[in-house]
Amino acid sequence: MFRPGALKRLLRRKAGGAGGKKAGGGIAAPDDDKLRLRMVESQIAARGVRDPRVLAAMRKVPRHLFVPPGQESRAYDDEPLPIGAGQTISQPYIVAFMTEVLDLRAEDRVLEVGTGSGYQTAVLAEIVRKVFSVEVIEELSRRASRTLERLGYRNIVFRTGDGARGWIEEAPFDAILVAAAPAAVPPALRDQLAVGGRMIIPVGSGAQELVLVRRTERGTEEACVLSVRFVPLI
Ligand code: SAH
Repeated sequence: MFRPGALKRLLRRKAGGAGGKKAGGGIAAPDDDKLRLRMVESQIAARGVRDPRVLAAMRKVPRHLFVPPGQESRAYDDEPLPIGAGQTISQPYIVAFMTEVLDLRAEDRVLEVGTGSGYQTAVLAEIVRKVFSVEVIEELSRRASRTLERLGYRNIVFRTGDGARGWIEEAPFDAILVAAAPAAVPPALRDQLAVGGRMIIPVGSGAQELVLVRRTERGTEEACVLSVRFVPLI
């Protein structure tokens, strides 16, 4: 999982690269730590997220290292932010909410569709045994895997491609988290859920709902849990 020593090295490298100056809020770690704790209290715990593992992961993962250079000062704001290629890093609360409804266990293997910045990937990797993360835009996948590797995560594997097809060689998954919205739940993802598995996925064009899908021995059950706005699944 995430090693504090690796973070220190990354922070040093980033500070050196910026010539010791702060860019857009820079990497002032103590301030960022404070902002992150405040984010968890005011945006996440205050809105009802209770799972201690989710709260601990959100307190730990340095979100400011997942936003584009110059945007660090906005990393703990209550909103999504652009990450390039027309994509966004999700609002912190949505990351926490989706993680909590998956009801994860330490031994779970999780498929993530839409790596994006890799921030949600890190939150998942803090909680579960292994994360398989698929991203359709190669540049984003490469950038995210670099960030996560530098932070010391060793339980994540990345793939570039269409996540709507899932990851058949590694299926079935205990949980699937989808971060871009298709018009309907892709059948391949439903099929790659283990019995007892859970999937959270935004569905719809225009108005979207986060749908929680549970695989049982008899089939799947679905429930709409929140109205949301995600980028479309490509
Ligand atoms: N949780 C991410 C969200 C990124 S936005 C974060 O917080 O950074 C959703 C991501 O899904 C984008 O990076 C987009 O490129 C990706 N995406 C869209 N369609 C996809 C598809 N068919 N397969 C895999 N990834 C896809």
